[in-house]
Amino acid sequence: MSDMVQGLKVVVVVGVAGVGKSTVLSHARSALESEGYAVETLNYGDFMLRYVIDRGIAASRDEIRRLPLSEQRGIQAAVARELRDYIEGLPAKHPGKDVVVFVDTHATIKTATGFWPGLPEHVVKELRPDTIVVVEADPTSVVGRQSRDQSRYRRDYADVEVVKETMSLVRMFSVASATLVGASVNIVKNEEGEAENAGRAVAEIVKGI
Ligand code: ATP
Ligand code: AMP
Ligand code: MG
Repeated sequence: MSDMVQGLKVVVVVGVAGVGKSTVLSHARSALESEGYAVETLNYGDFMLRYVIDRGIAASRDEIRRLPLSEQRGIQAAVARELRDYIEGLPAKHPGKDVVVFVDTHATIKTATGFWPGLPEHVVKELRPDTIVVVEADPTSVVGRQSRDQSRYRRDYADVEVVKETMSLVRMFSVASATLVGASVNIVKNEEGEAENAGRAVAEIVKGI
């Protein structure tokens, strides 16, 4: 890390619901912190959840994608601006350190009216990622992870064929979003029982950008 110029790397992380993004990122964070980076993980869904709870629109994160699309669009746009402001303040919050910001989010969201972009132009241009990391896993394993995770309601994705189709669309939406801002795309496999390895792979990608 340079002593002269403080770096800021923005990494957007996407993948089908239940593939293990949040789990992998907790490992990536530990790996990078042990090497002296300041790491902040911003979960887009957390920001959206706070927005809907404050306004009494919904009570849980898995309800958000069932709201009318016009409503989801407004929340998505408000959160993109909030995240940009937050990201801009991070170098001052961690003086002298290289800062890595992970944005834990979705390239596409399965809504009642179809697959909808999580990173349309107005969002990805606020986030300005250096790279988009696509987390993937065996579709049958993903369905198993979803059913074991009692803390979440992901039944709209809980079918091997839907997971397969969504994973394919996640790649397509990610490429489209990356192209708008000149970001690279990296695919990371989160094999069963190997989330820590996937986290290390993400950390290596980050160190290379
Ligand atoms: P969402 O998009 O819905 O937030 P996510 O991609 O963030 O989902 P996680 O919440 O990280 O997914 O993981 C879903 C479940 O799968 C959790 O119970 C987690 O412990 C488990 N899990 C994650 N990675 C692995 C792995 N490599 N092997 C086995 N289980 C895993
Ligand atoms: P998560 O916990 O990552 O599944 O996020 C919770 C919910 O937030 C998702 O199911 C979506 O409804 C919403 N969400 C997260 N990221 C985005 C995004 N970039 N655009 C629109 N909605 C999003
Ligand atoms: Mg998550």
